[in-house]
Amino acid sequence: MKTKLTEMLGIRYPIVQGGMQWVGYAELASAVSNAGGLGIITALTQPTPEDLRKEIARCREMTDKPFGVNMTILPTIKPPPYAEYMQVIFESGIKIVETAGNNPRDFAPRFKEKGITILHKCTSVRHALSAEKHGVDVISIDGFECAGHPGEDDVPNLILIPAAVRAVKIPVIASGGIADGYQMAACLTLGAQGINMGTRFMCTKEAPIHDNVKQALVGADERSTNLIFRTMRNTSRVFKNRISDEVVAMEKKGAAFEEVKHLVAGARGKVAMKDGNVHDGIVSAGMVIGLIKDVPSCQERIVRECREALAAAGRMAA
Ligand code: NAD
Repeated sequence: MKTKLTEMLGIRYPIVQGGMQWVGYAELASAVSNAGGLGIITALTQPTPEDLRKEIARCREMTDKPFGVNMTILPTIKPPPYAEYMQVIFESGIKIVETAGNNPRDFAPRFKEKGITILHKCTSVRHALSAEKHGVDVISIDGFECAGHPGEDDVPNLILIPAAVRAVKIPVIASGGIADGYQMAACLTLGAQGINMGTRFMCTKEAPIHDNVKQALVGADERSTNLIFRTMRNTSRVFKNRISDEVVAMEKKGAAFEEVKHLVAGARGKVAMKDGNVHDGIVSAGMVIGLIKDVPSCQERIVRECREALAAAGRMAA
């Protein structure tokens, strides 16, 4: 397939794997890249910058195709040494970075100096315009359906994708709520140059998380997510389970972050993902779990479905 995104990144299909905490390891990133998309290693999933260096090297052993690194800057319990993670990205010769969570003003020039292509993920048109002004190369626009942090404006992708495409001059990737090639075709016809998928890639054979987590998402429907941290203006869409129900209930009673910290800590979510105790930690998931009904390989079907959908649309027009 040929879009501005495939040409810019040197990839075969305009499909990007979202940076996912506790999921974006070399196993998944290399599988997506080997399938012709863009795999992404999540920097902060690695406990230290040195571990990120090793993870990038491990990924290079598993694929000779392009892959990127995600760096998300959001409120954290213990602030990571972002500058040191960035230094590893530079020294490892990474050419594509996905940034998210914050205005890219401070770090975009440093990535650009090193010739790195920046895909900036954001959740509103005004943030997309600001990121474009600060020099990012591609906007990944994340609709309200998405897993993780959808922002506070609550605009879904049927509106947000065309609004972003009209507003910015640089290419736009549609992110959030996508699990199949029919949706991919819809995004391309709305003007996106590619798609980003997170939850769909969590439910693949290659995702290095416990099978119980994959099966729990497969068994859930589109109403099985919770929005936590609404009251703290750091909204996050996560799988509806015992822990996230409790956080929502506590927030309704006015709980501060300190009071829910022991429930939401990333360290606890990591154990849930690894050991398969899906009700014992926060597990990010998008509304798209309502469309995810199996655990295929990263290689399977989405491109075929997209081609079928685009051809069918062409026949309707004729
Ligand atoms: P963590 O253990 O530091 O925090 C757990 C959750 O609490 C996160 O969602 C965080 O944003 C939120 N949080 C922390 N302090 C807060 C505060 N004072 N007020 C409101 N919310 C607060 O997080 P972690 O699991 O170690 O992850 C590290 C960072 O990566 C977090 O900021 C997280 O949001 C972010 N993240 C990244 C991705 C990605 O794809 N790269 C995905 C999900 C989350």
